[in-house]
Amino acid sequence: MRKNIVAGNWKMNTTVAEGVALAKEVNEALKGSKTNCDVVICVPFTHLCPVADVIDSNVLGLGAENCADHEKGAYTGEVSASMIASTGAGYVILGHSERRQYYGETSETLREKVALALANGLTPIFCIGEVLEERENDTFNDVVARQVEEGLFNLSAEDFGKIVLAYEPVWAIGTGKTATAEQAEDMHAHIRSVIAGKYGQEVADNTSILYGGSCKPSNAAELFAKPDVDGGLIGGAALKCADFMGIVNAF
Ligand code: PEP
Repeated sequence: MRKNIVAGNWKMNTTVAEGVALAKEVNEALKGSKTNCDVVICVPFTHLCPVADVIDSNVLGLGAENCADHEKGAYTGEVSASMIASTGAGYVILGHSERRQYYGETSETLREKVALALANGLTPIFCIGEVLEERENDTFNDVVARQVEEGLFNLSAEDFGKIVLAYEPVWAIGTGKTATAEQAEDMHAHIRSVIAGKYGQEVADNTSILYGGSCKPSNAAELFAKPDVDGGLIGGAALKCADFMGIVNAF
């Protein structure tokens, strides 16, 4: 059956020293508590090696926030999936709305990134979600289905089974405006039915679908109680150990 996962997305925050301190704190907090979910932190590229050195991979997973859409070579400034895997990281966030919006990521480039992540043994946390206008004009179900289809439906069922999805309504990211638990559940059930239509019910039932967008300790339990919400991708609240652990402990 699918896993419950709480994953932090640190974005472009913290110096290396601050990041290492935060990772240590989260690692220690997890060691001292019994959790009902897998816990992952996705950190800036510069932080991967030093953070890998201070965490116990049995209690805390590590991921990057992006990877290159090429294997290697003359792509100045890029970081490849194999480089990420060589740090000990096991996850990579792909298709975050900030990358789609500010860096022009398309389904085409995302298909390359997903393939390279999988080829290097990384678990993609693949983000999808509608903007406010699409929520308001009622096209959000189609928009999100298209993002899943275009970004992932070239995969075999076996490879699709290695993907974690994160539904992140763009209007809820960093805005303090959370989707209601009902809105999240409706969309997650919709996504699962789209997956079932392509790969069958078993694959759909085994796919972890996380919710992201202003998730915090005060609303996590209600969101995670929904049957199709399998955890969260956490931005702002992942930068404070107590808040992040409050979300982890909502399971
Ligand atoms: C995110 O960017 O993935 C996110 C969910 O951010 P926040 O929790 O800050 O809304």
